[in-house]
Amino acid sequence: MVDTPGMREFGLSSLRRGELANYYPEIATLATACHFGDCAHIYEPGCAVKEAVHQGQLPASRHNSYQKIYHSLPA
Ligand SMILES: [Zn+2]
Repeated sequence: MVDTPGMREFGLSSLRRGELANYYPEIATLATACHFGDCAHIYEPGCAVKEAVHQGQLPASRHNSYQKIYHSLPA
């Protein structure tokens, strides 16, 4: 399986960074436990999504995919 995430695959050219988690249901669920309400789940301390990856509850590949697309989106 080749994972080449990008805006074209999503078909949502108007998607912004803050909305990306909505397209990852498991990340959106975990995000409710993040320390910061506007957490990007990448750099923030107290991030429940990063913690879930660390504990093996969220596949790292899933988080990597999220991060790649996040950086391709407008802020
Ligand atoms: Zn987070």
